Amino acid sequence: MSTAAEFPFLVRASDLVGCRYRLRQRLAHPDVPQLPDAVARQPQIDAARAAVFSSLPVRRALGDGSSRRFLRIDLDPALPEAAELETRAAMGRGADLITNAVLSGEVAGVRVVAEIDILARAEGGYLPVMISNHRVARAAEVAPGAGARFIHTGRLGLGAVVEARARLRHHTVDGYRLALAHVLLGERSAGLGGVIGQDRERAYLVNPERYVAPLFAALVAPTPEEPRRLKQCASCRFWPLCEPRLRELDEISLLLPGGRADAYRERGIATVQQLIDANLGEPSRVAQAWREGIPVLKRRGAAAVPRADVEVDVDMEAYLDQGAYLWGAFDGETYRPFVVWEDVGGAAEEENFAAFWSWLMGVRDAARAEGRTFRAYCYAAGGENHWLKSSAKRFGAVSLEEVQRFIASEEWVDVFAYARRHLVGTDGLGLKVLGPVAGFEWEDDDVDGERSVALRLAARRGDEAARETLLRYNEDDCRGTRAVRDFLDAGAPGVPEI
Ligand code: SF4
Repeated sequence: MSTAAEFPFLVRASDLVGCRYRLRQRLAHPDVPQLPDAVARQPQIDAARAAVFSSLPVRRALGDGSSRRFLRIDLDPALPEAAELETRAAMGRGADLITNAVLSGEVAGVRVVAEIDILARAEGGYLPVMISNHRVARAAEVAPGAGARFIHTGRLGLGAVVEARARLRHHTVDGYRLALAHVLLGERSAGLGGVIGQDRERAYLVNPERYVAPLFAALVAPTPEEPRRLKQCASCRFWPLCEPRLRELDEISLLLPGGRADAYRERGIATVQQLIDANLGEPSRVAQAWREGIPVLKRRGAAAVPRADVEVDVDMEAYLDQGAYLWGAFDGETYRPFVVWEDVGGAAEEENFAAFWSWLMGVRDAARAEGRTFRAYCYAAGGENHWLKSSAKRFGAVSLEEVQRFIASEEWVDVFAYARRHLVGTDGLGLKVLGPVAGFEWEDDDVDGERSVALRLAARRGDEAARETLLRYNEDDCRGTRAVRDFLDAGAPGVPEI
């Protein structure tokens, strides 16, 4: 097996995370274009970088003392060939801030390149700082001295380290990017790295050393000779090339992606046919169903989802992990969206959440007052439960205790839990898989999580068509949930038994 050392191009940290077969595809098919979603995402990424760069200091502040010099050098990202020489020259001049820096070299025998968004001069050398779209720290109750440390973005190259009541969150790709920059900086590294995540005003400090050993291990790891299906294949530009090869190989990952087939591989089962032939009961029968193009099988026994006199189907849309901007509810006749197009995280989201909650509790209380039963349903309650609790915690408008009581009650039903108990899917049991099996179709069937983020941005800019699409999609998720529970309740007609 070959390693990354044999590839003729410079390897980036992002090449070492997730699918390692991509390197091989990049080499064999350099001209395969980016997917439209990735192209559509680029302006957002550029805007985030521009926002960070514009808040970086350009001169010392009043309190920094008049003797304090400050030199910021912005390199031109359009000239990557010149960037490395200019980066080294800028460090040689003792620049306090260098943006769009580039360093390359050989690490563990592999020719690598680190594109460093910001190099900030700090005690002992330079601090590489990366701009990431991840949430890199989360608020937490921590003892003094144990919190995550950060430098204000507007004070990079000048300011002191501040402690936050937050804990760092680990993201492998951010860690590898910092570790690669740290290693390439060598003696010029300050021994720390920074990551600016979704909170663009803070560069959280990370110890890059903790990522160095895993980075070296990733650099010397063999590059696979053949593809294996992973979650990220769904958004990979090489899928049209990998899929036929996976089918040719009858690769077991077609049925069980990622690490789900590991236990079978250990037993020497590497193809779908081998899994069918192994006669292992349910897994073998599911493999046979996959082979025959059957998406779902059912287990014996009734799949009764509890019903009520008054039923409401709920679906929530959140923007990254910043806040929930849409709570949709369908009562069997009318769809009601509780939506906020303004920024989430503030008064507008609070008001919207309170309106949704008081409406839902109002429907429940009215049903109870009439001596009727009430239930609200959602599909895979993890997201809804998280944002119900988080909204109550963040805003004072709704009591957390009331929310927790409701979530734990029989009046809140996760339809997915019933689906999982009674059905087995050859490609999971997501709402989008089960809806069509239950005879339900989405009007817009191409809105996935990523597109919904892009639509939300357009909606915020006042794009009416984007707003309509998001609302229609949320309404269809609510209606789809209802269709699936009706279908389960009817015993999943038409679905073959295992
Ligand atoms: S389609 Fe999947 S296996 Fe192929 S390169 Fe992309 S992520 Fe890797």
